[in-house]
Amino acid sequence: MTERTIVLPRSAFLFLNPSRSCPDTLEARGNAISSHGYLQGLVLHHINYRFRVIRSRPEGPERSPVPGQIMVFDRDEVTNLVIGYRMKFSNMLPTLVGSTKPSEQNEDRNTFVLARPLWGYNGISRSNLTKSINSAPCHLSSSRFSLRYPLPLLGSRSYSAVQGKLSLLGIYSSPLDPSSLAVIFPFFASKKNLFRSDSSVKRLDFGSCRGFSCSLRSGSLTCHRSSVFYTVDPRLFHFIVMYRKMASHIVGYPRMGPKRELKFALESFWDGKSSADDLQKVATDLRCAIWKQMADAGIKYIPSNTFSYYDQVLDTTAMLGAVPERYNYTGGEIGFDTYFSMARGNASVPAMEMTKWFDTNYHFIVPELGPHTKFSYSSRKAVSEYKEAKALGIETAPVLIGPVTYLLLSKPARGVEKSFSPLSLLDSILPVYKEVIAELKEAGASWIQFDEPTLVKDLESYQIEAFTKAYSELESSLSGLDVLIETYFADVPAETYKTITSLKSVSGFGFDLIRGTKTVDLIKTVGFPTGKYLFAGVVDGRNIWANDLASSLTTLAALEAIVGKDKLVVSTSCSLMHTAVDLVNETKLDNEIKSWLAFAAQKVVEVNALAKALAGHKDEAFFSANAAAQSSRKSSPRVTNQEVQKAAAALKGSDHRRATNVSARLDAQQKKLNLPILPTTTIGSFPQTMDLRRVRREYKAKKISEEEYVKAITEEISKVVKLQEEFDIDVLVHGEPERNDMVEYFGEQLSGFAFTVNGWVQSYGSRCVKPPIIYGDVSRPSAMTVFWSKLAQSMTARPMKGMLTGPVTILNWSFVRNDQPRFETCYQIALAIKKEVEDLEAAGIQVIQIDEAALREGLPLRKSEEAFYLDWAVHSFRITNCGVQDTTQIHTHMCYSNFNDIIHSIIDMDADVITIENSRSDEKLLSVFREGVKYGAGIGPGVYDIHSPRIPTTEEIADRINKMLAVLETNILWVNPDCGLKTRKYAEVKPALTNMVAAAKLLRTQLASAK
Ligand SMILES: [Zn+2]
Repeated sequence: MTERTIVLPRSAFLFLNPSRSCPDTLEARGNAISSHGYLQGLVLHHINYRFRVIRSRPEGPERSPVPGQIMVFDRDEVTNLVIGYRMKFSNMLPTLVGSTKPSEQNEDRNTFVLARPLWGYNGISRSNLTKSINSAPCHLSSSRFSLRYPLPLLGSRSYSAVQGKLSLLGIYSSPLDPSSLAVIFPFFASKKNLFRSDSSVKRLDFGSCRGFSCSLRSGSLTCHRSSVFYTVDPRLFHFIVMYRKMASHIVGYPRMGPKRELKFALESFWDGKSSADDLQKVATDLRCAIWKQMADAGIKYIPSNTFSYYDQVLDTTAMLGAVPERYNYTGGEIGFDTYFSMARGNASVPAMEMTKWFDTNYHFIVPELGPHTKFSYSSRKAVSEYKEAKALGIETAPVLIGPVTYLLLSKPARGVEKSFSPLSLLDSILPVYKEVIAELKEAGASWIQFDEPTLVKDLESYQIEAFTKAYSELESSLSGLDVLIETYFADVPAETYKTITSLKSVSGFGFDLIRGTKTVDLIKTVGFPTGKYLFAGVVDGRNIWANDLASSLTTLAALEAIVGKDKLVVSTSCSLMHTAVDLVNETKLDNEIKSWLAFAAQKVVEVNALAKALAGHKDEAFFSANAAAQSSRKSSPRVTNQEVQKAAAALKGSDHRRATNVSARLDAQQKKLNLPILPTTTIGSFPQTMDLRRVRREYKAKKISEEEYVKAITEEISKVVKLQEEFDIDVLVHGEPERNDMVEYFGEQLSGFAFTVNGWVQSYGSRCVKPPIIYGDVSRPSAMTVFWSKLAQSMTARPMKGMLTGPVTILNWSFVRNDQPRFETCYQIALAIKKEVEDLEAAGIQVIQIDEAALREGLPLRKSEEAFYLDWAVHSFRITNCGVQDTTQIHTHMCYSNFNDIIHSIIDMDADVITIENSRSDEKLLSVFREGVKYGAGIGPGVYDIHSPRIPTTEEIADRINKMLAVLETNILWVNPDCGLKTRKYAEVKPALTNMVAAAKLLRTQLASAK
């Protein structure tokens, strides 16, 4: 910082120090501010951020001016200072109110703060100043002004000030509602044509800032508090809005954009249709829009670096330079080439493995590490995003995946011992974290958020110790910064809670209080460290329901009593990337349902409303609208169906099993079906052509008649049936040409479901899913699949599978209602599917497949909760088919094979046949049978990977089947691909299935001759 005594002309930034005052050498020039006593003024040409200092000669006899200093700040610093605006209509200079030197008592939270920033600067170091500016807990706020400057206050509780041009009075309607307006200077309030009349307040009301009053006396405005007087010449003001700064925080935000803008930009770039610049432009616009949106809503802790071109864990891999060898990375900043090669593979090498992000439907890229992995700071994304926001005048908290979570999510690289523990690399990655922290500090960051969601898992003590080690090691780097450790998706176990809350280098802890209600008990019983911030995640980031604000406020009030008023921050339960983006884009939902919902954009507003209410500025209108919506949801006849409730309640406590055991059933079925050994089948869907999609789209849009639609679909089914007969497959499918999605197709035909137009949620990379919303009791008004299955069966003498999606999968791939336990909703869906199963059976369908692709996905993160989930999930599946005859064969299908830990639940599903993914995961599945688990039902571990366009040879498939025969009985083994074929082309499917059947026949011959 340069310090000098200076005389500056008009149009300037005035900075005065009341404690030292300014030397007489500074003279008022031009639009000088005149005032009584030691009034301070700030004037800034905000258009180009040019500023200069002017000074009015101190007037009045009360104090003699003492030589002091005038600070001149550079542009960056000025954007963070309180500013004033020139009034257009009069060219009068507005100013901030100043005061005499504050007593120490005035440092309390109720001090009239507008003048306070002016005091702090003199004589303090640049870094302290920067820190005080950046940690300032308040912002000037106005959407129209595009102005957002934190007031650099030194106190813990503060207010912010907004001054604006008269032409910009929109500030009153948004984003500041009247309740947050503490004061409007009467001089301007009287100008009714310029100001909203209701903004005229004669009395200053600072909320908790009692003791202030304001009155208009003989043309000058006097604000006084205790013995401190602030006198202002009203001609110099247009208005000042003050409100207490709300403590609100957002963990993270969706990146795809309200209409999946990033998806289309990415895919166009990957296809070579647009340039890297085009992609970056879209990304920049999205990031800026998100930051502005949060800033406008009044959020105090706004995250940055939660954007990603593909995945945040991959971003961390890039930051650490931990690129697997096969991508031939040679150092330097990691660009799109290397980054997207890791994400998606390239012509010569495959992508890195992708796996589920905790218990969400998001998938991350698994880091591959080994003892020789070299780490170096190779992606400056966190810093550049922080700076990008800062350039917009928005202070953010950069978010990094914490070092321990990163390592715990990693796996040993290829060629590295399976027993290798990536956690042993902690010492190697921390230096890179230190570099990042140093750069963020240098750029001006005051808070850093470390996402450490693994803290909610059942950790071994050495893993918990790693957190202590990591954050102690980082302590000196982090000094001077506020550090937030953010956890989400479940409660934090007691031992872990105790360990992390005692970390010295951490200033705040974020907890998911939606899925982790037990953490609230811990805070109450174990306590919360004094002086630290609690980021209370009370707004659900995993769902689309409007928050019950009254209930959240009760929770928050209880927490505030424990941690203290200054230390409670209202937050989301996790990143909002797991919910839909913005309700305003939903044109097809009716208003009643819409009133029950809140997507990410609405959740940001909820967080802020709660923070404001907590700070004593409750927006009554917003809260009562919310209460009305909550009660409308409770009482709406669309939600409750007594008959369904009764039927579902009756299910509890009883065991729903088929009367006969599986081997007897298989015998009965075989008599009827007469299948060869190693029967062949496919999982359900056949390639979905552009033509098919068009037909469905046009039918939905009523562009083609039902007759035309049925004709087109019938033709397709007939083609698929003929093809399978040509391949000589034993149990056929109809190919599902009428289905767009395995959940939406059923949801659309069940009551209690609603569908969005743009409710997309990122699944991985550019891929998004649009989960249906289950808002009410689920029932099945009429048969859903019988027409097509019956039609398909009529085309062939071979058994045709009826294809259904199971209740657990429908549940896990939807936004589920939060007003009753998940298992109750699941039971309701199970009853609806049960009716469909029975209708299919009655229509002559002898084999019915009920897919439970997502059963494992719903597994809770904590071991203690697994048994309960598996119990009701498996029960729900059994409910669907407990009523069929022995001769009806029930299949199920699972898309992932990591079932070894839950194999007993899989057996307990009591399906007659299970087809299961196997080839992609290195036949891990078979190991469970190798270890001696007995499986008596039919089983079809996938014999080839349908996710790859590669065509497997007959020998290769036969080899796979042989491996299976080594651990499974010949009479229970089925031969089928890993999953449905809808993403493949016929050019791939035809030879692959031909080879598959050939392999099965080869094995049959070999087995027969072996006998
Ligand atoms: Zn599958």
